[in-house]
Amino acid sequence: MSTNEILDSLTLLEKDWDIDPLIREFILGKYTNVSDFTLKVKDVIFHIPYLPKEKKYILWKCYWPDCHNCCDRQGRLPLTSEDLIQIGAGLKYQKTSDFISKETLIATHDEPTPSGGLSVMTNINLKRKDDETEADDGTHISCRFLDKEGSCGIHPERPGVCYLYPFSTWSQYDQGRARVHATFQFTGDCPGFYLDESLDSMKEIFDEYSTTIYDYNIKSSRTLKDGFGSLTMT
Ligand code: SF4
Ligand code: SF4
Repeated sequence: MSTNEILDSLTLLEKDWDIDPLIREFILGKYTNVSDFTLKVKDVIFHIPYLPKEKKYILWKCYWPDCHNCCDRQGRLPLTSEDLIQIGAGLKYQKTSDFISKETLIATHDEPTPSGGLSVMTNINLKRKDDETEADDGTHISCRFLDKEGSCGIHPERPGVCYLYPFSTWSQYDQGRARVHATFQFTGDCPGFYLDESLDSMKEIFDEYSTTIYDYNIKSSRTLKDGFGSLTMT
């Protein structure tokens, strides 16, 4: 996402939510005195922004049901092979192949890697609107499954990426072992970030998300192996 796109998202967000000025600067890349604090919770290593001058971490909580901005401004919904089976069944498709042909589309996009490079991702995505085409990929669309009460109409079968937001996750080999890492995505669409001197207020969330993130990474690598997606490092 470009800084202009993030600024547009933040400007929209600020119509409804108060965003801490320091967090705003950080999201826009203007506050750079930040270190990467790592916290291992079960099988996942979380990367948490730490502001040494303020002696504060940037942490997160979800404001749902008062907020459903991530569903209102959804960029893409890549599916794992498990998602394909579960969401297809939840939408009453007898055959996963029929679900795939009617409700999904294949799209390719560039994705920044943690090392600063770019990867080219080809995914099978759940359509966020009935007539979605590949040209809509990455644009902000209010998801067709968001109901009038602000809930997900296909819950509990919603895609794994929806459970994960606003975390972004990846796997990396370290001394012959696959390690799962997670960090926040700062897209300017989530009002849930706050500053705190201690990590305690997010302890339960780290605990819960560690399991979700680890399972998701295992499922996505299986999805790549099954041929439902591809990854090319450039
Ligand atoms: S945008 Fe953030 S606070 Fe709002 S529902 Fe999504 S995760 Fe929760
Ligand atoms: S599938 Fe559900 S949780 Fe995911 S973006 Fe759509 S409404 Fe939100």
